[in-house]
Amino acid sequence: LCALSKTFKLGGGMLHKPQTLKAVNEVSLRVPRGQVMGLVGESGCGKSTLAKMLLGLTPPSSGDVLINGKAIVNANQKALARHIQPIFQDPYSSLNPRQRIAQIVGLPLRIHALGTPREQAAKVDQMLDLVGLPKRAAQQYPGQMSGGQRQRVAIARALIMRPDLVICDEPTSALDVSIQAQILNLLLDLKDEFGLTYLFISHDLAVVEHLADRLAVMYLGQIVEEGTREQIFTSPRHPYTQALLASALTPEPGLGVPDIGLGAGQPDPTQPPSGCAFHPRCPIAQPQCSEQTPKLSAITHASGQAFGKGSQARVACHLA
Ligand code: SF4
Ligand code: MG
Repeated sequence: LCALSKTFKLGGGMLHKPQTLKAVNEVSLRVPRGQVMGLVGESGCGKSTLAKMLLGLTPPSSGDVLINGKAIVNANQKALARHIQPIFQDPYSSLNPRQRIAQIVGLPLRIHALGTPREQAAKVDQMLDLVGLPKRAAQQYPGQMSGGQRQRVAIARALIMRPDLVICDEPTSALDVSIQAQILNLLLDLKDEFGLTYLFISHDLAVVEHLADRLAVMYLGQIVEEGTREQIFTSPRHPYTQALLASALTPEPGLGVPDIGLGAGQPDPTQPPSGCAFHPRCPIAQPQCSEQTPKLSAITHASGQAFGKGSQARVACHLA
């Protein structure tokens, strides 16, 4: 992703001035092939808007999406879908209740006119088998299945095109805890088997720690820290990352939005604070922080060598 931005215009009318919301603000991020990039941050930080741009569901205000070095943002949604496929949070609403599973899973092949109907049916059977569903599932409707089974259907549909990138947007947060680990392990097995690349969006750091190779931390539409899983979990450098990790370790994590324990909540995103947008909540803010916006820059970790090659980290903080 190259300087990808999405600005929404809100409201306006007789009494109110229209406001602009920079949901995603110049995000540049490289997801290495064959790896899992975790994207974390509180709800409303822009994670899902970012995903929607990658899926062609909402056009970016500016910036590019590149796959293998080629920009594809101006391609239509159909072209984008050849490269990028989603697995959404809610398998109840993301599957058409009036279609049989065979139709649902085979849809991408029909849209892109890949193979004969017979070949498509064989591919569907193969995918259902790979995601651990019985053959008879092909003739069922989503309403006849459990949440976990439905998410397996969504995974089969996403992978049938062998996409370059799979966007997993909170893929287990609507499932029972007992099912979550099964689905996460299935995603990992399939990734290894097919060399898949995931952008894994989650507010749940425990889930991300389990599967991400790298992590990007988002705050108010911007990436504030990026690095390998080890760097982020063992020596986070941005105060926001540190607070997120600390809140994930408290015995009673809040439901949904993590309570990051930094006094004031997330600021109104239509009126982001000046300078470093995190400064009103930052426990170590300095006077310069409200004036100068820190750039996301490469840093060397004190224990740099230990993290190995290709482990470059980036942080947006004056004091990091
Ligand atoms: Fe805190 Fe300043 Fe760093 Fe922002 S730039 S995270 S306010 S220390
Ligand atoms: Mg979301």
